[in-house]
Amino acid sequence: MKKKITVALVAHDKRKFDLVEWALRNADFLRHHHLVCTGTTGGLIFKAFAEKGMDLDITCMHSGPLGGDAEIAAMVVRKEISLAVFLIDDLSAQPHEADIQMLLRQCRIHNIPIACNRYSADLMITSSLWDDDTYVPSEPKYIVFNRE
Ligand code: PGA
Repeated sequence: MKKKITVALVAHDKRKFDLVEWALRNADFLRHHHLVCTGTTGGLIFKAFAEKGMDLDITCMHSGPLGGDAEIAAMVVRKEISLAVFLIDDLSAQPHEADIQMLLRQCRIHNIPIACNRYSADLMITSSLWDDDTYVPSEPKYIVFNRE
């Protein structure tokens, strides 16, 4: 991908290992972009890259349960995020479920690609559409469907 984009990275506690491992595996990609993370996730990614002598353009928001997901959702609304990788712990209840749903919903509404597993993330970051200047994403349509 030629142009620099802003990538949101968020992982719940039991998914943080997976996201850090994914980030390191895709270091060549991520180092060319601006990363926006929830607080703890961002701190872990920054540390993992620093330990390998790699710097990052990274912004850490508040921790997720304290509003980090909500801050990233606001960035999605302002079209400041191009891609989100959000590894959700689907096996545990989260105190900030409302904020999680808000981030997911705003990505859907504003047509922002959001990967909730590593396979999706791999597919998204390797898409040739990023460099296709003729490609215009189709905005979601909300059209009443009449069964009659
Ligand atoms: P954290 O937040 O990176 O600060 O742990 C993630 C989340 O729970 O949404």
